[in-house]
Amino acid sequence: MLSDKVAIVTGASRGIGRVLALALAGQGAKVVVSARNAEALETLTAEIKAQGGDALAVVGDVALDADANNLIGQAIAIYGKIDILVNNAGITRDGLLLRMKSDDWYAVLDTNLKGAFLCTRAVAKFMSKQRSGRIINMSSVVGEMGNAGQANYCASKAGLIGLTKSVARELARRNVTANVITPGFIVTDMTENMTDKAREAMTEQIPLGRLGEPEDVANAVLFLASDQSSYITGQVLGVNGGMYM
Ligand code: NAP
Repeated sequence: MLSDKVAIVTGASRGIGRVLALALAGQGAKVVVSARNAEALETLTAEIKAQGGDALAVVGDVALDADANNLIGQAIAIYGKIDILVNNAGITRDGLLLRMKSDDWYAVLDTNLKGAFLCTRAVAKFMSKQRSGRIINMSSVVGEMGNAGQANYCASKAGLIGLTKSVARELARRNVTANVITPGFIVTDMTENMTDKAREAMTEQIPLGRLGEPEDVANAVLFLASDQSSYITGQVLGVNGGMYM
């Protein structure tokens, strides 16, 4: 159980982040949810409260210094501490390298990697001071494998692995752990636009023979957020049905 813990989830307005927020709240955590879509966040916090939980919506763009600082500041102002940060916000702007526009490179790196850096830097001072904390970064299996048409996305997700390991080394003495999850293909809006043929081809690459569900990722987050993972830091946890070993 995560009773009395305060958790922040970025990119919580839909997809994996929404399921993570509900799962953390289900374990008793007070959940601060963030994204750019205010309406979706309000619906989510209402749902958590209706289930007897405690939640706060903070609207913002993780790629902006001011918004990232505001997110952490609001969480501290309302709850007085932050135990768990899940850097989950992410976007894709796919394209083959030779045709990739610089704007698409920067947009993906800014949201996926700079966003995680900004939130982690802002939270680190509070977690260091309280001498406890869990930082969980949402990378991707393609950050480990590479993927044609996703140079920007894969670079951002590989970057998150380096960021996580460095943060894990810097904050270990303060009893703050940092780990990274690399989901495989998970059924969300991000994967919904695929053709049946593409989906079939993808499933064939997965030893467990199915795409993942957001709940599969949530289970990994709950473990890394819990007391059971207190001796685990700087690790990459693949939630990919075995497609990358
Ligand atoms: P999704 O359904 O597209 O949701 C992405 C979330 O990120 C939304 O809540 C979105 O909210 C938020 N977001 C995007 N840009 C943002 C910004 N600048 N500032 C704040 N929030 C922002 O994606 P998903 O499939 O749930 O993916 C969640 C994470 O898992 C991502 O990091 C993704 O790369 C990673 N992942 C997904 C898969 C997969 O197969 N689905 C596989 C591996 C890794 P707003 O639009 O409201 O801001």
